[in-house]
Amino acid sequence: MHIIFVGPPGAGKGTQSARLSRLLGLPHIAAGDLLRAVRAQDTPLGHTAKQYMDAGQLVPDDVTIQIIEQRLAQPDAKDGAILDGFPRTLTQAKALDESFARHNSSSHGNEIVLYLKASRGVVLERMKGRWICQQCGSVYHIPNVAPTEAGQCDVCGAPLFQRSDETPEIQAKRYEVYEHDTLPIVDYYRQHGTLMEINGEQDVENVTRDILAAIDARKAALIALEPRVSGGIEGLTSKPTWRGRGDQSRPIW
Ligand code: ADP
Ligand code: AMP
Repeated sequence: MHIIFVGPPGAGKGTQSARLSRLLGLPHIAAGDLLRAVRAQDTPLGHTAKQYMDAGQLVPDDVTIQIIEQRLAQPDAKDGAILDGFPRTLTQAKALDESFARHNSSSHGNEIVLYLKASRGVVLERMKGRWICQQCGSVYHIPNVAPTEAGQCDVCGAPLFQRSDETPEIQAKRYEVYEHDTLPIVDYYRQHGTLMEINGEQDVENVTRDILAAIDARKAALIALEPRVSGGIEGLTSKPTWRGRGDQSRPIW
């Protein structure tokens, strides 16, 4: 299954993607991380990416789509992936649909889009306090998700840093770009019936709980749509095993 996160910058997409990746065993594909790797290169493409990213703008669709398609074609993403920060435009959303239809016909139509909702005030405050590990990419927030030792990653001990596009002006620009370019894809996915809304203003644990419930609900809906066949559920990329007891049980894919 492909899990697609949509939401404003700073809503918690990266934080939740990393948790889901550990829980569900799916690769976490962060468009921003892939583009930062491109931007670090001293090449014409790297210079183009830098120009847009430093201004808080979206990198042009053709560049971003190509990078994501290449990553999705890797063997570890064969049965699904968690997409964090892609798509961010209608053109990207349509390209992703076409890509699923072309390369991944068995899971096409089985995706879930998680719309992580948080207000402008909340996301600006979250971006302001965001600190990232230089080495393993773990994300912190001071004071909301603080590391045990100040300035040091709990996971690997490396120093924490703040992103260069984390100035108040660029953050405000990124939010503006989100409203103008990315919000239209919410309606697009709503019309496709794949959208689930999540209240991203809760604490990290409760957001994860709601996301897992939304994924379960989507899978139940997909199962209900499937023709009954003996021996399994046709058309789904993988079959669930059930974990937990009684009312607490849920399928793990
Ligand atoms: P995005 O990937 O959507 O830009 P991040 O996952 O990087 O957002 O989160 C932005 C900041 O907010 C980070 O500093 C992160 O630690 C913090 N954060 C994420 N989720 C929550 C939450 N539910 N409550 C409080 N802070 C959060
Ligand atoms: P993020 O790490 O998700 O906050 O993204 C950081 C920056 O990378 C954004 O402000 C954009 O400049 C660029 N970026 C990330 N995802 C995309 C995308 N899907 N399309 C275009 N640009 C993107």
